[in-house]
Amino acid sequence: MIKKRQKGNLIVISGPSGSGKGTICNELIKRNSNIWISISCTTRDMRPGDEEGKTYYFLNKEEFENRIKNNEFLEYAKYNENYYGTLKSKIEEKLEEGYDVILEIEVQGALKVKNMLPDTIFIFIMPPSMKELKSRLENRNTETKEKVLSRFKIAYKEINEFSKYNYVVVNDNLNDAVNKVESIIVSTNCRVDRIEELDLDNIEELLHEDLIDMN
Ligand code: 5GP
Repeated sequence: MIKKRQKGNLIVISGPSGSGKGTICNELIKRNSNIWISISCTTRDMRPGDEEGKTYYFLNKEEFENRIKNNEFLEYAKYNENYYGTLKSKIEEKLEEGYDVILEIEVQGALKVKNMLPDTIFIFIMPPSMKELKSRLENRNTETKEKVLSRFKIAYKEINEFSKYNYVVVNDNLNDAVNKVESIIVSTNCRVDRIEELDLDNIEELLHEDLIDMN
């Protein structure tokens, strides 16, 4: 009766490094076959657990800057002295196929997307406390102490931008946080502006049989 528009939603998920947004996104794709997570390009070094083409496309600075020149990015930003960017190519294709597409990106890039595509849903993942965030970053043991401290300082700045987002989810319990993000996506799909048309059956046809019975 109700025809939902075919095109999927674009969803930006940000939050400071250590907020757990990556883990939340991984859980979301395990639970929902209709969600697609964009794979970004970066110039940062690979960390244990990273896989080329799965966690990122790892480029050197020159390759990244060539792609900027060729206008291949929907958005890009410098974070902790490295470039990170979302490739345009796949995003539109996946949205057209009906997937809800998630961009897991930092705040500067998110604000660029907000200027270009204001219909996007913006979700900010908040750590339960700064103390907890600091210990999560330190316990990762994948980067130098300087890099960790620098991420922590960026986190302070990023958290102050949370009010520019549509939703904020505190990640003090992974399962609760995933449920909340999932609910935001489900409710977005129920929005009136996501409905393409209302196809009501013909009332006269439906009443016809009753009229025959009555005669
Ligand atoms: P990490 O080095 O921890 O993988 O990522 C550092 C930050 O860069 C995270 O906040 C992550 O969300 C963000 N990021 C990842 N990909 C992109 C991207 O394509 N664009 C922007 N602007 N940020 C990104």
